[in-house]
Amino acid sequence: MFAPDTVVSLDRHDPLKRKRDEFLLPSDTIYMDGNSLGALPKQAKDRIAKVVEQQWGNDLIHSWNKHHWIDLPLKVGDKIAALIGAEKGQVIACDSTSVNLFKVLASALKVNSQRHVVLSQRDNFPTDLYMVQGMSEFLGDEACQLKSVSEELLLESLDESVAVLMLTQVNFRSGRLHDMQLLTRRAHEKGVLVVWDLAHSAGALEISLDKCEVDFAVGCGYKYLNGGPGAPAFIYAAKRHHPYMTQPLSGWMGHARPFEFEHDYHAGEAMLRFLAGTPNILSLVVLDAALEVFSQVDMAELRTKSLGLTELFINCVDSTPSLSDFELLSPRNKLERGSQVAYSHPDAFAISQALIAHKVVVDFRAPNIIRFGFTPLYLSYQDVWSASQVLIKIVEEQLYREPKYNARSKVT
Ligand SMILES: *Cc1c(COP(=O)(O)O)cnc(C)c1O
Repeated sequence: MFAPDTVVSLDRHDPLKRKRDEFLLPSDTIYMDGNSLGALPKQAKDRIAKVVEQQWGNDLIHSWNKHHWIDLPLKVGDKIAALIGAEKGQVIACDSTSVNLFKVLASALKVNSQRHVVLSQRDNFPTDLYMVQGMSEFLGDEACQLKSVSEELLLESLDESVAVLMLTQVNFRSGRLHDMQLLTRRAHEKGVLVVWDLAHSAGALEISLDKCEVDFAVGCGYKYLNGGPGAPAFIYAAKRHHPYMTQPLSGWMGHARPFEFEHDYHAGEAMLRFLAGTPNILSLVVLDAALEVFSQVDMAELRTKSLGLTELFINCVDSTPSLSDFELLSPRNKLERGSQVAYSHPDAFAISQALIAHKVVVDFRAPNIIRFGFTPLYLSYQDVWSASQVLIKIVEEQLYREPKYNARSKVT
């Protein structure tokens, strides 16, 4: 398929075009699901093979010191800090986003213990809401109670009962981007602490946690950070909270002196106290190597390209009469958009399966949403244009009506 000249020219002037070579991707596939599972950076593949063979295989337990395994959670945390507008020493990589949410929610509720409401958005990612529900079940309503409201009601719901405002910066369904600075400021004006979930924004756009005076944040290692399936997630806690913050998963690795094997728990220095058990070294190694891809990347350029890609796709759909049944769920205003575009369609499931069969990898979210993810590091404008042409063919020729595109698997 030959793209129009404008698309060719956009690729020619793309400052990130060489980044694609740093990833292993099947050459016949247009991968638009980096918002669910990032692609494999070549460096990560090489590094993990060496670490397994030489460090684990040969140096065995000495590697904790010899190869600095013990320092990986903070080392990787500092690399992530550079991508999310945080000074060093405020981010640690560990556990999953869900577990980390529990830790930071507990920390924030403890700081604001005169209050008990955790305010969030009804259509937040379910795990975020579930973790608050679990905390509430465990501590009782008088210590923790979830209040979830529609996006329009967030600001007016910030009152003196609210301890914590917990939001996801980019909505996982619609791709809508919150104004982090505004919401954080309005929360602080009411004495409310903020917890931001960066699952769909870390590595996808510019973030300024320090500048926005965010209290706590969590995020995901396997989406735009390309850390591999089940990669360690991360926690950010603003330096001003370090002296007194606590978290209840007080495992030995978060102890000030784990190898003294003392009877009583004493919380470790700053971010280290967010560790619970032994760090997942092999996964940290992969994430550490994967983050090298970002070392020469200007996040402002990355954001510009991301918006260019989403804009091109939306324009392709808009200008195709046969796609008029696709309803755009993502904001048209690019300043309110993350790095994904979602459409609803009555046959969303079958169309998403047909796209995948035609090597355009997207994902489906119940009940009727197709998500197209735009990863500026390894997608070109040509890819996006080609994906739109495949979509048009599938719809115009009704290819998605084949029965095989209607069978559901366990993971969608
Ligand atoms: C992907 C995602 C998560 C993932 O949580 P895990 O515990 O790492 O599986 C959490 N929150 C949001 C908003 C997400 O999009």
